[in-house]
Amino acid sequence: MAKLKVGVRKTNQREIIYEVIKNSKGPLSPNELLEKAKENNESIGIATIYRTIKLLIDANEIIQVTLPDGQTRYELSKLDHHHHFKCKKCNSIFDLDNCPLSIPDQINVPAGFILEGHEITLFGVCAKCSKTNASTT
Ligand SMILES: [Zn+2]
Ligand SMILES: [Zn+2]
Repeated sequence: MAKLKVGVRKTNQREIIYEVIKNSKGPLSPNELLEKAKENNESIGIATIYRTIKLLIDANEIIQVTLPDGQTRYELSKLDHHHHFKCKKCNSIFDLDNCPLSIPDQINVPAGFILEGHEITLFGVCAKCSKTNASTT
């Protein structure tokens, strides 16, 4: 199990929650985090999830991600620049590696403006859900 660099006393539950975030294919909401953490430890409750999220944010291990659907999710703070894909069926978010705006010359901002960054969220249906869809129709 990876070492946690959290400057607080760690419990097994915290490690489980951190591992869930670390191994996820994309940012997770507190409820998704709870569901996955429970697979490892049934006794984890939503209060522990929120408490651990706060600790991990304070320790700069994770960051908050707010997507256009308004739902707050969390991911590791040290990930490279990336974008997200949201599945309309299962509401899961998947990290994407490639950035279509990686060449600054391709973006025009008005004269005098200073461009500092961008966010892109793609929408669609994930591989798992598109398969489910095909088999039921
Ligand atoms: Zn899906
Ligand atoms: Zn980008």
